[in-house]
Amino acid sequence: MKKAKDIINASMLSRLVMVLAIVLSLVAIFVVVLHPGTRTITPTSSDECKTVVVVASGDTLGKLLIDQGLNNSDVNAISDALKKSAGISTLRADSDKIEFVRATTDAPVSKIVLIPSPWKQVELTCGENGGWNCNTIEIERDTRAVYKSGEIKNGDSFYLAGVRAGIPAGILIDVYDLLAFEMDFERDVRAGQHFSVLYEENFSDGQKVDNGHVLAVQFEALRGNVKMYRFKKSDGTMGYYDENGNGAIKSLKRTPINNAKVTSNFSSRRKHPILGFTRAHKGVDFRASTGTPIPAAGSGRVVARGFNRGHGNYIKIRHNGTYETLYAHMSKFAKGVVVGTAVKQGQTIGYVGSTGMSTGPHLHYELIKNGTHVNPLTAKLPAISNLGDADKKKFIEYRKKLDDGIEQLSKNPDWFIQL
Ligand SMILES: [Zn+2]
Repeated sequence: MKKAKDIINASMLSRLVMVLAIVLSLVAIFVVVLHPGTRTITPTSSDECKTVVVVASGDTLGKLLIDQGLNNSDVNAISDALKKSAGISTLRADSDKIEFVRATTDAPVSKIVLIPSPWKQVELTCGENGGWNCNTIEIERDTRAVYKSGEIKNGDSFYLAGVRAGIPAGILIDVYDLLAFEMDFERDVRAGQHFSVLYEENFSDGQKVDNGHVLAVQFEALRGNVKMYRFKKSDGTMGYYDENGNGAIKSLKRTPINNAKVTSNFSSRRKHPILGFTRAHKGVDFRASTGTPIPAAGSGRVVARGFNRGHGNYIKIRHNGTYETLYAHMSKFAKGVVVGTAVKQGQTIGYVGSTGMSTGPHLHYELIKNGTHVNPLTAKLPAISNLGDADKKKFIEYRKKLDDGIEQLSKNPDWFIQL
């Protein structure tokens, strides 16, 4: 990717200045909206001796500390400090790193740095009284917003088109999850549709470390252009909103299982594949292989879990006073999900199967509004949170600036917005 300084030349200068003006205004917004206070790490002096250990499966903090010559009272003091100051009580194998620092090769460990993420370090230093002090340091990151766009080609899935557009898999999954509130990927995706995403790339010391959040997404769906923007409300909560500032995250997902093909749609009259006579199909069938996790379409409470001849193993969730969802033909229920369990949106409640009256593994999904079955793929779904007047005004200003930035990036795909 080209940096801003690489793309300056005389003919482009005037356009660049315009982009910079936009960029600067965005920086002002993002500094307020997205950038929490960060601190840099102080480099260790060169004569210190440092040992780096990557936590392996079976490692415990105690074992690693004893291996480095620390005693049991150090182990206890360090565990306590980590738990109290950093909220860390367990180590994650193959992910956490620990640095042990000694003044000289033979000296006892005087500093321990736990690195639980590329953006956070927890420093433990041994005080003069033998106690350990714990200090959490956020690593300064350089975040850029990059833009990718693509088009659905004949026979494409959104995923394939997204990969071809150069959108990283993790970002695509986030985009998928967002769009699933508004779109049915099976029926709404057609050749010729365009889509775009603006997302964060995080750099440290000039090296890309990881991708951040999806900042904006746009998809030309059949029902109209779907646009969503990430925005921070004045109370500090982040959310996604449509162009007009209405909550984009719906309280329920239309398609609980991403990327699953609709094999039978909601209809008031359908010939039942097993019963043979015409009968309403009160839900939507999604093809998926046996054992595929079934996520709850929204948060709520399990009000029924059982078996009946038609549904096989099924679960019903009450989301609020208006909406209930039902999931049928499960091969098994998720552990600990029983009648009365409070579930979160996306939490696995069971696994796809073919129990009950079913001709093959699939999820039969019903959406019930005020006691009446409605089509989950087309029903108007309630938004989780909307913006108050003041936030809405701020959002609209922010969204306009972001749209201007996106417009520039769409013409100059190698550019990025420095956040
Ligand atoms: Zn069905």
